[in-house]
Amino acid sequence: MPPSDPPAPGPKRRELSEADYASGVLAGDRAILGRAISLVESNARGHHELAQRVLTQLLPHTGKAQRVGISGVPGVGKSTFIEALGGMLTGRGQRVAVLALDPSSERSKGSILGDKTRMVNLSQDPRAFIRPSPSSGSLGGVGRKTRETMLLCEAAGFDVVLVETVGVGQSETMVGDMVDFYLVLLLAGAGDELQGIKRGILELADLLAINKADGSNEKSAERARREYESALELMHGKDDEWKVPVVKCSSLTGAGLVALWAHVERHRQETTVSGSLERKRKQQLLRWMWQMVESELLYTLKHHPEVRKLRPELERQVRAGELTATLAAQQLLTAFGLGEEPTVST
Ligand code: GDP
Repeated sequence: MPPSDPPAPGPKRRELSEADYASGVLAGDRAILGRAISLVESNARGHHELAQRVLTQLLPHTGKAQRVGISGVPGVGKSTFIEALGGMLTGRGQRVAVLALDPSSERSKGSILGDKTRMVNLSQDPRAFIRPSPSSGSLGGVGRKTRETMLLCEAAGFDVVLVETVGVGQSETMVGDMVDFYLVLLLAGAGDELQGIKRGILELADLLAINKADGSNEKSAERARREYESALELMHGKDDEWKVPVVKCSSLTGAGLVALWAHVERHRQETTVSGSLERKRKQQLLRWMWQMVESELLYTLKHHPEVRKLRPELERQVRAGELTATLAAQQLLTAFGLGEEPTVST
């Protein structure tokens, strides 16, 4: 098991049965919720099977939360933002779960996200629950642990699930594929506002927020806001169902957060009425299902003894230009037991 994995349910604690997990989570018992998340995160086969049984029991109680992804480069103010937004929502009586997806945890063995000291007030708020979520590849592929943790939080009665991620690698697309609404935090920067921001992220976003719009920063924040707004107008068609709002906010003062969240709620209402929320969730599930099949298949193929034997030589031949990539691929698939022996007609 990779060292960054959270401890699996240990021998010292009383073993919980499937029914214990399910009833504890449904009752909103935080200790049991925490243990259920550890179970879902465990890479041990036995835990995996139990976790799936628990999730199956809980499935009818999932799906009610607002699932919101929050992304932005380190330093943009994500944890300050979540602390402020989360506090605003719990102040309204809502229960908020924060899952911080940390693409670096595997490498650094530590978490740059989800560290409770980053959200001091929220981590002590009885209506909030903060949990770092490993994004490492595992049984079921990348993102499984976060998705299943989200389901557990929903079954435990959380009204809002915030999934935080840094704009690194695949994590943005991964999060985009598991939430209803994707919020991107940006900074007003020097020079070209669009510099350094990946186009892909603008395509994913349901809302852009220029953070740190306070003090001497306000003017440049407004300038940045307008620039992003026009950039988006060029990208999106007039008859898009949702016109992506570009707003300013200050996580430090809280300014703009009420208006920002009103957009999130309007989006939920409109997409619920139009049916596109339900369609989106169904598509996400099917895509996820196939991603799991793909990742398991690929894993099995790459670890197949015949494939492992052939791989170095085939890779060498392809690199040296002695064999076409197509023929090499066919040979690998044949070694795995798929397809025909390649034949080259002359
Ligand atoms: P993260 O790396 O994206 O989680 O960013 P942090 O939340 O840790 O914030 C990075 C720095 O920006 C910290 O020093 C914050 O105090 C500061 N910061 C965050 N939000 C704001 C804001 O709205 N206004 C100002 N002036 N500073 C902010």
